[in-house]
Amino acid sequence: MSLSPEYYAKALLRTLNIQQPVLLEEVAGRIGLQIDEVNSSGFDGALLRIAGRPDGIIGVRKTIREKERKRFTIAHEIGHYVLPGHDAENPYCDADDLVAIGKEAEKFERAANKFAAEFLLPSQAVRRIVRRLGISFGTIRFVGKQFEVSITAAAVQCVKVADNGMLVMSKRGRVKSFEKGQNFGGYVEMGELPAGSLAAQLGSKQREKRGTVNASVWLGPGYEEYRMTEHSIWMPKYERILTLLVH
Ligand SMILES: [Zn+2]
Repeated sequence: MSLSPEYYAKALLRTLNIQQPVLLEEVAGRIGLQIDEVNSSGFDGALLRIAGRPDGIIGVRKTIREKERKRFTIAHEIGHYVLPGHDAENPYCDADDLVAIGKEAEKFERAANKFAAEFLLPSQAVRRIVRRLGISFGTIRFVGKQFEVSITAAAVQCVKVADNGMLVMSKRGRVKSFEKGQNFGGYVEMGELPAGSLAAQLGSKQREKRGTVNASVWLGPGYEEYRMTEHSIWMPKYERILTLLVH
């Protein structure tokens, strides 16, 4: 059995005694990596290894505006550097690789994202916050600020440690992936957004909607007698909708 990406993230945090929010420049330096901001139109992050030496260079696209996204990109590349078996991979990661969660995502990209999430947002610390505040976009935004990560990254980690939440990510009207806590029953079909969902009603006129929906809208047949809270937010810049389902 191989060890999980989260295991490697926890081990690195512990070994180097790293506190949150993680000082990425410092951590990179301590493990032999240099971070360079580079001009790129094709990739967000890259890990360039030096043949025959343990050192490497992380290239991060200079024009990424949000600090949080830059941080996640760097942590993702640290993941490729630390995780076994990643050294033969294509060194360039694009914007889609960096949001890859769930089954559709490429194995190595998904692993690097899991590493980055645990590295920047240790599940133990996030679980404490979610237990205290409950799962909501309010909590997710608070976690995002505390750990200096994007709403999407905070949302993924928050639902993973919550028992009663699911995060669905859609792009251009189609469900792309979802993430949930261990005790959240049910699955969401990939493909077109469910017609009865609040997410399907979002657009330039209304960017955010919150309400109660029948659970079968999202989870399909067998859930007709349950109701869930749906809170969907449209992120026009990424053409993406984040949906938080809570029961
Ligand atoms: Zn990658």
